[in-house]
Amino acid sequence: MEIFNEIKPLRAYLNTLRRQQLTIGLVPTMGALHHGHLELIRASRKENDVTVCSIYVNPTQFNNKNDLEKYPRTLDADIAQLSTVGCDAIFAPTNLEMYKKASELRFDFGSLDKILEGEFRPGHFSGVALVVSKLFNIVQPNRAYFGQKDFQQYKVIAKLADELLFDIELSSVPIVREPTGLAMSSRNQRLSEPDKLKALVFYHSLLMAKELLLKGESTAAVKVKVKEKCEALPNVKLEYIELADTENLIPSQNVSSKTILLIAGYVGEVRLIDNLLME
Ligand code: AMP
Repeated sequence: MEIFNEIKPLRAYLNTLRRQQLTIGLVPTMGALHHGHLELIRASRKENDVTVCSIYVNPTQFNNKNDLEKYPRTLDADIAQLSTVGCDAIFAPTNLEMYKKASELRFDFGSLDKILEGEFRPGHFSGVALVVSKLFNIVQPNRAYFGQKDFQQYKVIAKLADELLFDIELSSVPIVREPTGLAMSSRNQRLSEPDKLKALVFYHSLLMAKELLLKGESTAAVKVKVKEKCEALPNVKLEYIELADTENLIPSQNVSSKTILLIAGYVGEVRLIDNLLME
């Protein structure tokens, strides 16, 4: 497995592969890898000759300094995990390599980046779009792989790729969960074992909400019940639960196979998200 910290040698390596007509899959991550990330690598390996995993904790997508500072960084363990699943190359750049100077570019995705995560994390999706654009330009992959766990992020990136004419096929990989049902997340590393049990309340809330909605309860009534369920636990705070259209993420009052439940909240100071398709 090749490891690159700089753009220039990575580009040279990829150009050689492209000259051999080999296809390239990109899996962008922020490291602290878990089985969810490894599923993305496996998906890429199935469809491409060469898989590149980027590991970069992108400062411009953090609206909370504490979250950025506390984000787990486990590069050695990440390298070891990636070598077990046949990843071909890692791109782990420094901040200076990715941002020679502070960027003044800002992205606006209309309503898509103002709601849900966008409402609670202002500027987040602009930072995501900036770093993903850079990664797409550096790697120029044939395909790129993302998790359904960050459903809104996937929609933002799909819009970015569509409007900027990136010739890259995007794939969304289903959420990988712990045996308990907890959605795998790098941020789970910041939770104690008792807090991991508490964090399950978000997945359980999604399951409860889905069941209630399918029985005909109103979204308003379901939101109240979910808030009560979450906040019955000490140190748990619900930020939102929303039923939304899978196409544009506009909140929906009516359940259909084209809607999705999205939830976000805190256990202590760790912010977690999860979602569940209504299909
Ligand atoms: P992150 O390192 O958190 O930025 O995530 C990198 C990629 O892995 C994103 O496309 C995420 O959606 C995806 N991902 C994170 N957690 C999971 C999971 N539990 N299952 C599937 N994909 C995931």
